[in-house]
Amino acid sequence: MSEKEHTEVAPSGGLPHHTPNGRFRNPWGLAESRVAGLLKWRWNRLRHPLPRDDGARSLQRVRSSVRLPRAEATEIAITWVGHSTLLVQLGPLNILTDPVWSDRASPWRSVGPRRLVPAALPIDELPPIDIVLLSHNHYDHLDAWTVRALASAQASAQWVVPLRLGGFVRSLGVRYITELDWWEERRVGDATVACTPARHFSARTPFDRNRTLWCGFAVATSAGRFFYAGDTGAHPEFARIGERFGPFAVSAIPVGAYEPRWFMQAVHLDPDDAVTAFRALHAHHGLARNAVMVGIHWGTFRLTDEPILDPPRRAREAWKRATLPEENLWLLAHGETRVKRT
Ligand code: ZN
Ligand code: ZN
Repeated sequence: MSEKEHTEVAPSGGLPHHTPNGRFRNPWGLAESRVAGLLKWRWNRLRHPLPRDDGARSLQRVRSSVRLPRAEATEIAITWVGHSTLLVQLGPLNILTDPVWSDRASPWRSVGPRRLVPAALPIDELPPIDIVLLSHNHYDHLDAWTVRALASAQASAQWVVPLRLGGFVRSLGVRYITELDWWEERRVGDATVACTPARHFSARTPFDRNRTLWCGFAVATSAGRFFYAGDTGAHPEFARIGERFGPFAVSAIPVGAYEPRWFMQAVHLDPDDAVTAFRALHAHHGLARNAVMVGIHWGTFRLTDEPILDPPRRAREAWKRATLPEENLWLLAHGETRVKRT
C-alpha cells in the first residue's frame, strides 16, 4: 500500500483537512488509495481464512445500573452498550456516543458483520438523552435504524456531528443538529462540546468517500471533562487536544479493529497506540493518577483480523507496561455501568 504524504499546505479556507473539491482528508498522510489495500486484504483472507475463534463465548453481558434519570453532580457514570456506543452520564448530563442498536453493522438487514452480543441496554429503557455525539458515517457508528428510533424516542436531544453530516442525520428525522469542524466548540445546554481531529475516513457507498468529515469529541461540564476519540489511527494532535480541552477525567479510546497492521494502522489505533494516545492527551496537564481510559470498539462486531479477545488482553498489557494504575483502565462487560466520582 503506498502511503501518500501530504504537506500542511492548506488547499482551501486555510484548513489542511479540507480539499479544493469540497471533500476532506487527513493532513498527516494516509493512503488515499484504500481500494487496492482493501482488495489485497480480502484476497489474503480468501486464501488464508481466519482460524476458528471461540472468543465471543467469553464475552459477558451484565445488568446495567444506569443512574435514573440522571447521575449526581459529582459522578461520571459510563455504561457500555457495545462497540463504540456508550451512555455517558456526566453529572446530570446524559450523552450517547455513536449509537448503534441494530443487529448488524451494515446497510443490509441480513448481510454484514453481526453483533456477537446483543445491544446491552434496551433503547426504550434509556434515560432522557441530552446530547448525541456522532463521529462519522461508517455503519458501525451511524446506524440509520437507530438514528430514526432515537429521533422519535429522544426527540429533544441535541446531536453534534462533524462537517457535512448534518443533512443525512436530518433526513432521518433528527431535529436539533450542530455541525462542527475540527477544533470548533459550541455551548450545548450546560456543556461545551468540541470537535477534535481524528485520522480516519468516511464512506457509506462506493461514491461518497470523504464527502463528510470524521472526528472525536471533548465535552466539558461542571462534573468533569470527557473525551471520545471516535475512530482514529495514531496522529500527532492528541497532546494539543488534551492541552486545549482537558484535563479529561474519562477518555474513551478505541482498542480494536487493528489487524492486519499494514492496512489498518492508518485508520485504527491498536492497544499500544491507544495507551500512547491516552498519555499524549494528558501530557500538558499532567497525568492525574485517577484519569480513566475506557477501551471501546471491540468485542461487538468482528470487522478485522485480530482474535476477538486480543484487544482487551493487549490493552491490559500496554497499560501495565506504562505503569498506570490497573483500576483506571476500564474494559467493561457489555451493559456494565462503572462510576467515577469527581
Ligand atoms: Zn470508521
Ligand atoms: Zn469503527
